[in-house]
Amino acid sequence: MRCYINGIIHPMTEESLVYHSIATNQGVIVHIDDHIDLKQCESIVDLKGNHLYPGFVDAHLHLLGYGEHLSTLNVSSCHTKEALFELLDQHLNKPFVFAQGYIDIGITKHDLDKRYKDQMILLRHNDFHGLTLNQKALDHFNVSDETGILKELKAQHVLDLIPKHSKEELSEMLKKALEKLYHYGITGGHSDDLFYYNGFDETYSVFEDVLKTHPFRTHLLMHHEVIDDFIKSKKSWGVQNPYLELGGVKMFYDGTMSSQTALMKDPYLKSSHHGEVVMGKDFFENTLIKTRSHGLTAAIHVIGDQGLDDVCELLLKHPPRQGFKDRIIHAPWLMKKTLPKLIDKPLTIDIQPPFLASDLPRAYTLFSKKPEYEFPWKTYLDHQIIISGSSDAPVEDPNPLIGIKDAIFRRSREDMHVYQKEESLSSFEAIKLYSTYAHAQSIYGKKGYIKEGYVADFTVLDLDLMHAHEHAFNGNHVVMTIIDDVIVYTRKL
Ligand SMILES: [Zn+2]
Repeated sequence: MRCYINGIIHPMTEESLVYHSIATNQGVIVHIDDHIDLKQCESIVDLKGNHLYPGFVDAHLHLLGYGEHLSTLNVSSCHTKEALFELLDQHLNKPFVFAQGYIDIGITKHDLDKRYKDQMILLRHNDFHGLTLNQKALDHFNVSDETGILKELKAQHVLDLIPKHSKEELSEMLKKALEKLYHYGITGGHSDDLFYYNGFDETYSVFEDVLKTHPFRTHLLMHHEVIDDFIKSKKSWGVQNPYLELGGVKMFYDGTMSSQTALMKDPYLKSSHHGEVVMGKDFFENTLIKTRSHGLTAAIHVIGDQGLDDVCELLLKHPPRQGFKDRIIHAPWLMKKTLPKLIDKPLTIDIQPPFLASDLPRAYTLFSKKPEYEFPWKTYLDHQIIISGSSDAPVEDPNPLIGIKDAIFRRSREDMHVYQKEESLSSFEAIKLYSTYAHAQSIYGKKGYIKEGYVADFTVLDLDLMHAHEHAFNGNHVVMTIIDDVIVYTRKL
């Protein structure tokens, strides 16, 4: 038995309830406070007055994508062409220059061609739905385009042609991601990775191997393009081992706001178009039907308000098996008429609080008319719709403290305004997004509360999130990260 003592322990069952000690055995909480006999403890962890929460989880991210992001050139800090060129100039030692995180500042292939003739330049857009290439790169991939700016399927086509990482490189990327997440106090994540790299089997085995040395509660979505590989693998859906689960089938209904491909009820301001159904409506519905035919659940990317309404209708037409829940990923814009279609339905929503802080007010410059609800998290909770907190990393930094802060304060990082204060969550609700509710789709073990019988996954902070001021969320507050009773991170003093 191990005892964690001298802590302020937030069980997340009631807002004001705190404990001071817990005892664990074989990765499970066995006693709390008075019921602990210290004489029986083989090891003692002194929490030194710090705050212990159920382990924080990111409900939607891309673990390998995040590892790749941590390992490659990132240009997301470049807000002018000059700044971007200056950074690229420092990385011209390879014939193929791949940069991530490009914020669309209007660079075309002509800008790139003027400066870079010897290298292939490839800028991956920060929304992951577009690429900008110079002529040399376009030629290499045998793609012709006037601007060099490729979106959605055309961009994916080029990404598919990029030389793959070796298995060892993927393992290193995953370890890098997990170590950074430990440092953020994260004990688990629901990730979409199985299609984008070395195929279902090899990517799966990378997870299986790395998780043996790097414990992390990993729930992997299965991209619709790998359903056949999954069936062929004869693996079963759900729990593979205490650290690995296979979950819903990831599919994309629409695109993104910044690419103006999110499907909106009202057209975008400078054009008459409403966005798009990226897979095509028939293909999407057939994919959903195929998903059901294998008894699987769906994990659907949808951003636009019209897109969300369409998805609700399709899920109603093709519901999951009794007792199973689908997940909707994103859903930041909502029409009034769609709300009842989300209530009492077998689904959960993965929301990204940092999107509000990053995307507003720029999104308003794209709309001809504001959507009826914007990032309506309080509305979702008030209607008992389960929402889970996430970062979509590498799109956003996966630091959960930032997500919790954004869910409470709803302040834009661009103009520092607070948007729709009435949709703010309480601190308790916001912490739950990343602890209790983040497990809405988890399968293995009991997670998300400090209770007897629940797993020993803990996040220890030097900050009382329940009462913290807005500015206090910045900085590193993680003292310890514990997964399955193993301390995977301790802050160095
Ligand atoms: Zn994503």
